[in-house]
Amino acid sequence: MSQQSPSGGYSIFHGTMADMTFPEVMQAAADRAVVLWGLGVIEQHGPHLPLGTDVYMPSALLRRVRGLLREKGVNSVIMPPFYWGVNHVSGLFPGTFEVRPQIMVELMVDLIKSLKKDSFSTLFCVSGHGDALHNRTILDGVRRGADESGINAYFVGAPSFFQRLGIEAADPNVLPTATEVERKSRYFDVHAGTFETSSMWAVYPELVHTQILPTLKSTDFELDDLMEWRKGREHAKRKTPLGYLGDPASSDPELGARMMAEQAEIVADAIAAKVKAAA
Ligand SMILES: [Zn+2]
Repeated sequence: MSQQSPSGGYSIFHGTMADMTFPEVMQAAADRAVVLWGLGVIEQHGPHLPLGTDVYMPSALLRRVRGLLREKGVNSVIMPPFYWGVNHVSGLFPGTFEVRPQIMVELMVDLIKSLKKDSFSTLFCVSGHGDALHNRTILDGVRRGADESGINAYFVGAPSFFQRLGIEAADPNVLPTATEVERKSRYFDVHAGTFETSSMWAVYPELVHTQILPTLKSTDFELDDLMEWRKGREHAKRKTPLGYLGDPASSDPELGARMMAEQAEIVADAIAAKVKAAA
């Protein structure tokens, strides 16, 4: 892959601790760097996006967040992304990998303890995947990891995101952002539709099958369709046989670039405010 990629690197390890040496990690911990962690899944994303979309997107977001935090005087390192997550909704599609929530929690706890061993004190997690059970599992893992390691750990997200999941914004392991990126669409667009496809197109154009986008019909889902789809498994497969929910044909890489930049600002602002309040 080209080194000129707008992602700043094709590998999901690019810019993360996985590309650092151990003395560099020691120095980062000594410099009181906070740790940023994206947690996605490998799951079907329609006929036009790769299975790793929910891992690629938080990876790209956190690289931008790290740069913005540096400008605000906050040191950070990016943990290699978590990608074996919970896939209730699209679990029946080919290419979707799934682990049980309790396995994900145990793995998160062990990884958070590893950060503690390295003398890191603060962790901020973002999700790359909308599945409700995946995100409730992230919060369980963050909470248990924090309790068992003594690390300050937070799940960062938009207020509407936590509200949908029934998660209290006042939860000590939750960090709601002050604002959120506005997503306007006539019908629901929640999976591999206009927004997700636009963002992938902006950052990883070589991974988007742009030539077939015009052939993908909008799903035109209203609330009852969405609720049926969210029941998952055979319901999701029946409601969206092509895997996407939304309107991929309306995707626009410039929209994706704007949304990504705005999201990075919003997340960096929330993290910087939290770090400064704790200092
Ligand atoms: Zn996705």
